[in-house]
Amino acid sequence: MSDNHPLIIETKNLTKLFPISGHAQLTACDNINLNLYRGMTLGIVGESGCGKSTFLRMLLQMETPTSGQILFNGEDIGKFSAKQRRAHHRRIQMVFQDPGEAFHPRMRVGEIVCEPLLNYKLLKRGQIPEKAEKLLELVELPAEYIRKYPHELSGGQRQRIGIARALALEPEVIICDEATSALDVSVQKTVIELLCRLQKDKNIAIGFVCHDIALVQSFSHRIAIMYLGCIIELMESIGMAEEAKHPYTRALLDSVFDLSMDFNKEIQIIKGETPSPMDRPPGCPFANRCTRCEEICLKEKPALREIAPAHRVACHLL
Ligand code: SF4
Repeated sequence: MSDNHPLIIETKNLTKLFPISGHAQLTACDNINLNLYRGMTLGIVGESGCGKSTFLRMLLQMETPTSGQILFNGEDIGKFSAKQRRAHHRRIQMVFQDPGEAFHPRMRVGEIVCEPLLNYKLLKRGQIPEKAEKLLELVELPAEYIRKYPHELSGGQRQRIGIARALALEPEVIICDEATSALDVSVQKTVIELLCRLQKDKNIAIGFVCHDIALVQSFSHRIAIMYLGCIIELMESIGMAEEAKHPYTRALLDSVFDLSMDFNKEIQIIKGETPSPMDRPPGCPFANRCTRCEEICLKEKPALREIAPAHRVACHLL
C-alpha cells in the first residue's frame, strides 16, 4: 500500500470446503483474496455463518485451506515445516470475543499474560512479575492487577488482559474475533481506542472481525463485506456510507441506527434467508434477496471487480 504500510499478509484464492455426509460439501470460504498491511486495520463484516471465522482460523493455521495460498511477508505459510510453523505462530496472535473463557480460572493475571512467553521458553518463572507489570502498563492496567484472578475483573479489564497476552510475543499481526461484541458500548470504545494506540505505537496489522458495520467503520482503514463465503465488497472505510455500492452493503448501512437519521425514511429490511452454504446458488450468492436481481444474476457469479481506486464490488450491475 505504501512504504509506511507494507503488505504483510496476502491471501490468494483462499477456499475452504468441509465434507458433509456422502459427497456433499459445505463451502465456508470461496476464493478469498484479501491483504493486510502493517499499521492498518482491515475490518471484516458479515452475519453469523458467512465464513469470516473460518477465514481467520486459516490465517492462524488452525484450519488447512482446501485450496489457495496465504503469504506472510511473501512466504507461503502452507509450505512451512513444523519448526517454521511454531516460529510463525509468534507473529500472529488472536484476541477472542470472551477472553475470560480462554483463561484458566486458577491462574493469576501475571501468569496469564506471560503464559505465551513461558510456552516459547522466552521467560523464566522468576521473571513473571516484572514482565507482567510491563505488559499491563501497555494496556493501561495497574501493576497490582498481576495478583488478581480473572473472576475479579470486569469484562473490559479481561479484554485488556486478552490484548496484553496477545502482545506478549510482540506479534506483527493481531486478529480480533468479535473482540468487543460482549462489552458495554462505553467499554467497547475504550478497548478500540487502546487497540488504535497500540497499533500506532507498534505498527501492527489488525484484522477485526465483527457483525457491527457502524463500529468497524469507525476505526478500520479498509472494510471487507462477506456474504456466503465470498467477499462481495472491499473498500476504504472513509466515505463508505456514501460510496458503498453492493446492494447487501447498502442494506447493512441503511439499517444502522443513528440519532441524526431521518425517522420518516423507511428502513430497508433484507427479506428472505441466506442460502445454505451446502447448497449454494450457481449465480450471485445474494440473488434470492436482492431487489435488483436480473436474469444474469441467477446464472453467473459476479467477479469482485475494481470500480474505483481501492474499491472492489462483486455485482453484475456495476
Ligand atoms: S449481481 Fe445481481 S443479484 Fe447480485 S447483488 Fe448485484 S444486482 Fe443483486
